[in-house]
Amino acid sequence: MATHAAIEPPATIGILGGGQLGRMLGGAARAMGYRLVVLDPDIECPAAAIADRVIPAAYDDVGGALRLADASDVVTYELEHVAAGVVAAIEPLVPVRPGLHPLLVTQDRLAERRFVEGAGVAVAPWREVGSVPSARSAAAELGLPLRLKLPIGGYDGRGQLRITSVEQLDDAWTRLDRASGWPLLAERELDFEAELSIVVARALDGSTAAFPPSRNRHDDGILVESVAPAPVGQGIADAARAIGLRLAEAMDLCGTLTAELFLLRDGSLAVNELAPRVHNSGHWTIEGAATSQFEQHVRAICGLPLGSTTALSPTAVVNLLGTGPARRAQLLGAEAALADPAVHLHLYDKRRVFERRKMGHVTAIGADVETALEAARRARAALRWADDEALASPMPSAAVGATASTDPEP
Ligand code: ADP
Ligand code: MG
Repeated sequence: MATHAAIEPPATIGILGGGQLGRMLGGAARAMGYRLVVLDPDIECPAAAIADRVIPAAYDDVGGALRLADASDVVTYELEHVAAGVVAAIEPLVPVRPGLHPLLVTQDRLAERRFVEGAGVAVAPWREVGSVPSARSAAAELGLPLRLKLPIGGYDGRGQLRITSVEQLDDAWTRLDRASGWPLLAERELDFEAELSIVVARALDGSTAAFPPSRNRHDDGILVESVAPAPVGQGIADAARAIGLRLAEAMDLCGTLTAELFLLRDGSLAVNELAPRVHNSGHWTIEGAATSQFEQHVRAICGLPLGSTTALSPTAVVNLLGTGPARRAQLLGAEAALADPAVHLHLYDKRRVFERRKMGHVTAIGADVETALEAARRARAALRWADDEALASPMPSAAVGATASTDPEP
C-alpha cells in the first residue's frame, strides 16, 4: 500500500493496547466505518467490546504484533509502554502511526527530557542519577523537594518518589524496586500555579490542529479532574498550543500528542510529560469539542484531513476511580448521576475494580467551567462501587494478574 494514500473505511485499524483509550479510539473509528483489531494480554479488555477481533498477547510479543499487522491496514498504539521491538518489527509491514521515534522519545523519561530541551522547550531542572552519592549531589544542586522517577514504566503517580530530605535517598532504589545503579530521573519539584495539558494533532501531510488546553487536577499523581478550555489568559493558551505543535513537529508525529504542562507562578510553562496519543485529560473533547480527540487521532493516522478543534462549550471531566478491595466491578447510582441532563457517563467496562483504578469518567457541560465542574462532581458523588459480599468472591489468579497488567495508562 502506498504510504501516503488515505486509508479509508472500511479499512482495518490495529490498536496495540485494549484499555479505555483503545476502547474510545475504537468507538470513534467504528462510527466512521473502520474495522478494528486489538492486541491486549486480556481477552476481556475494555476495547474487546468494540473490536472485531482481540489478539491475546503481551505488549512485547512480536509474534502477536505480527498477527495484528497482518490483519491491519494501519497500526497505532494506545499506550507508550509497548515494546519498541514490537513497533520496529511491524513497521516494515504496515504503517505504524505515530511510529517508532515518538514511542522512543516518550517511553523513557530521560530521553523525553533530552528531546524536549533539544526542541527548545522548558522542563523542570533535572539530572540523571545512578547512585546514592549522585542523587545527593543532584539534591544539592536542584534543591528539595525532589521527584525521583523511574525512566520507564511509571504511570498514575506510580514509579516515583517525593524526596523531602537527603536521608530518604539512601533506600530510594529499594523503594522503587530497582537495583542500585539503575538510572533514575531526579527532578526539582516545581511550585506550580496549575497543571495544564494540550492535545494537538498532526496529519500525514504535516498539517496540524490544537485543541484548547485543559486545566487538570491530580491527586497523589493520578488525574482526578479536568476542565476545558482552561481558564487561563489567551497568551498562556497560545503558548501551550505552540509548545504542543512544536513538539509534534520535532517528533515528525502523525497522530495526536499530549503535553502535560506546569503553569508556573511567573506565567511561563514547563513540560512535565508527553504522550504520543490521546489522553485522559482530553476526554472532555467527546462532548465539548467539534471533533473528539479520538476521531482526530483516527483521522490523522488514516491520512484524512483533521477535524475542527473548536470547543463547543465549557466542559468538565471527573474521573471515576476504583475504591476499596479488589472485587468484581458493579457500579451503583447511574440513574441518580444522570438526573442532571448536562451530565454524561462513560464506563470502561473493566471487570474488576480496585483502589484508584481508572474505571470511567463523568463529563458535564455548563455555562462556565466552574459550573460544569460542580455538576460533574455532583454526578460523581452519586456513583459508587457495590461492596456486596456476593461480588467479593475471588477471581482466578491468572485473570486477576492479566486484568491488573492491562492498566498501564495515564
Ligand atoms: P505519571 O506518568 O505518573 O503521570 P508524572 O511525572 O506526570 O507521572 O507525575 C504525576 C504527577 O505528579 C504530576 O501530574 C504532578 O502533579 C506531580 N509531579 C510530577 N513531577 C513533578 C514536579 N517536578 N514538580 C511538581 N509536581 C510534579
Ligand atoms: Mg503524568
